[in-house]
Amino acid sequence: MTEPSDKPMTEDRREFLKTGAVLAGATLAPGLLLYGVADGRAPEEGASSKVRWGLLIDSLKCGEGCHDCVTACNTENGLSGNTGPQDTQYIRKLDIKDLRTGWVHSLPMMCQHCENPPCVDVCPTGASMKRADGIVLVDRHICIGCRYCMMACPYKARSFVHEPLHDQNPEVPRGKGCVESCTFCVQRVDRDLQPACVEACNAKGHKGMIFGDLKDPNSELSQVFRAVHNTEVRADLGLNTAVRYQGI
Ligand code: SF4
Ligand code: SF4
Repeated sequence: MTEPSDKPMTEDRREFLKTGAVLAGATLAPGLLLYGVADGRAPEEGASSKVRWGLLIDSLKCGEGCHDCVTACNTENGLSGNTGPQDTQYIRKLDIKDLRTGWVHSLPMMCQHCENPPCVDVCPTGASMKRADGIVLVDRHICIGCRYCMMACPYKARSFVHEPLHDQNPEVPRGKGCVESCTFCVQRVDRDLQPACVEACNAKGHKGMIFGDLKDPNSELSQVFRAVHNTEVRADLGLNTAVRYQGI
């Protein structure tokens, strides 16, 4: 490998670049590439189109009044947990009542990681983006806070950061003036961990969420997908969401 001057790269120079990349990974938003750099993989290996991450939520196992997934999400992402109109929520619990039977379904609602995401279509800067593995993110360095994506999202999945932030999780940097939403805990997924909500739901014994690779026919997620009826919220929109629900 040579530098632009065509001089051979020295060990010192290599070490400097490597250190710089790791530092960048610690300070930039949870974007596409830098976690891969930080853990030794080449940037282009950070997300692969051979994978499409998805999530199946069984609303029949999701208890009314249970907020274990929300709490885990808030802790992982450094969110306050406040639910006012100006507060950020990556997941919110919805109670949906069937008017014919009176049956109440309680389910978590978050970014659905649409295959055809309207938020990406309307974003004028390219800050809203979809990774090769289907995870939809906002690059906080490019976001200008116009909030077009918030208007375009049919699931009200996005929040705008109105106030300066303190006590952030350094692994998940956030910023005033940017829009944000569920990232499937990309910082965890890139380390072969489950999203925090899924881990908490299972650890608490509810077992209402399965996360995995939709493109792998042998993944637990794909097998359950084939075995049980599941549906998209607002399937009529044709967004082919990566989050599906069972029992609604
Ligand atoms: Fe974008 Fe909303 Fe779809 Fe998430 S749910 S990908 S924010 S349109
Ligand atoms: Fe794009 Fe940011 Fe505007 Fe959303 S608020 S459309 S992410 S620039």
